Amino acid sequence: MRGPLMALVLIALVGCGADESTGETPGKTGASSNVFNSSVPRGGQLRDCPTEGAALQVLGSGGPIAEGGAAARAGTSYLLWIDGEARLLIDAGSGSFLRFAQAGGSIATLDAVVLTHLHADHAGDLIDILNSGGFEGRTQALPVIGPDAAPRFPGTREFLARLMSKEEGAFAYNGGFLDGTENKPLIEARDIATGEGAGDPAGLDVSNDYSVMAHPVHHGPVPSLGFAIEIGDKSVVITGDQSFLSERFLADLSDSAPTILFAHHVINGEEGQPRGLHRTPEQIGELASALAPENLVLTHNMQRSLKRLEEGLTAIAKHYDGPVWIADDLHCYAL
Ligand SMILES: [Zn+2]
Ligand SMILES: [Zn+2]
Repeated sequence: MRGPLMALVLIALVGCGADESTGETPGKTGASSNVFNSSVPRGGQLRDCPTEGAALQVLGSGGPIAEGGAAARAGTSYLLWIDGEARLLIDAGSGSFLRFAQAGGSIATLDAVVLTHLHADHAGDLIDILNSGGFEGRTQALPVIGPDAAPRFPGTREFLARLMSKEEGAFAYNGGFLDGTENKPLIEARDIATGEGAGDPAGLDVSNDYSVMAHPVHHGPVPSLGFAIEIGDKSVVITGDQSFLSERFLADLSDSAPTILFAHHVINGEEGQPRGLHRTPEQIGELASALAPENLVLTHNMQRSLKRLEEGLTAIAKHYDGPVWIADDLHCYAL
């Protein structure tokens, strides 16, 4: 019952704005104007990102647990739109195939796919989205860029090979993606060195219209990246799943005051939960305090954190007093 709960929380926090009957208003505190789309339809309706300018759409706002009933969330995925074209897919978690379609996404216009890490809730639908792209007649190569390997994580190139290799791939019939044959666009896979969360950042040269920096972040034993995207004088920081950023990432961001900081929202440390993989709400607040984003968006929303949302927002507010939004699937954030 996420909607009614959220509506109550929001009424308590901001005193207005939430629609109790639908609960569709995204979480927001602070006094900034309502610049973000606040009434996203669900269930087969098309995106309503702006057709001019840049916007970051949250395709999947959930985590690795299938939960939530009719309000279930897809695993993590974002889509960068520029002037109505889908340009950059960031993560492709479980369920994002459907959200990609609902958003009106197209492989044909993508500059690249970038992956924060190879957990299933971030990469589980990659094969489906690429497979769908095979029907679009794209001819130019498509970069797919993600982290390197570690024990039990194969690295991005090897991950794609294990999915698509004509010899041994799980979906060997898709092997044409790996050599650009059989009317498939060539996938140019690339691993970014993560150095256990402390490696050097890498500039991803995927477009002249915007820049993408991939920064290693710490997510337990999982090779992981966060991304900083700059478009003109706007910028978006996607932390990915992480318990801390590298010193270099923080230093590089220190004067940037991003337009939006997307923080992955998990209450850490409850019984039965793995520890050390995620930032606590208070630590999200500390990060937001350090980076001073114009907007903080909490995503990777799971029931365990949503049911304690008020507590989490209070912890964040100890350090950060800017607007906080609770992402839902298909929410679009104009830049
Ligand atoms: Zn995750
Ligand atoms: Zn993860």
